[in-house]
Amino acid sequence: MAEILAAQLVRDIPNFPEPGIIFKDITPVLKHPQALKEVVDLMTEHARALKPDVIAGIESRGFVFGLPIAINLGLGFVPIRKLGKLPGEKISEEYALEYGTNTVEMHTDAVEPGQRVVVVDDLLATGGTASAAARLIERLGGTVAGFVFLIELTFLGGRKHLRGYDVYTLIEY
Ligand code: AMP
Repeated sequence: MAEILAAQLVRDIPNFPEPGIIFKDITPVLKHPQALKEVVDLMTEHARALKPDVIAGIESRGFVFGLPIAINLGLGFVPIRKLGKLPGEKISEEYALEYGTNTVEMHTDAVEPGQRVVVVDDLLATGGTASAAARLIERLGGTVAGFVFLIELTFLGGRKHLRGYDVYTLIEY
């Protein structure tokens, strides 16, 4: 794990976006050509092993990694977006935050029934976003083949929300 170049580049920003949160800033990884290629290549191989038909990325840092993974695998990419961003016919899933709720949405034609979908995001924290993404895909008749994240904050226990799914993470804190 420690040999991954990106692990030394992820930057902690304390008290962002609110007091008490330590934000894992991945922008130093994105601007480092070798680190960027290394993480995209490793995430691609994890995704490939899950035999997906399509890659879904969670807005917005899931787009950054999901799109090159889809291209590497010769697959299409579908976005899972925040409330109110998608223009077409869509479905929504709400999930709880510490205070309040968030909503993610997908176009109803994003996934065909029976398709295997790998969900990509930059970071697994509590798992609320990822499990809402899984519910969207399953409501559309898709199968969640697994999840691929760059970072996992293991102390938040997000995996327990994703029990029964394959979950790959490259860097754990
Ligand atoms: P969760 O639903 O709690 O698993 O949160 C995951 C989503 O929130 C991902 O899209 C992350 O990009 C973002 N996120 C949550 N916590 C952090 C953090 N400490 N640093 C950076 N991003 C975070």
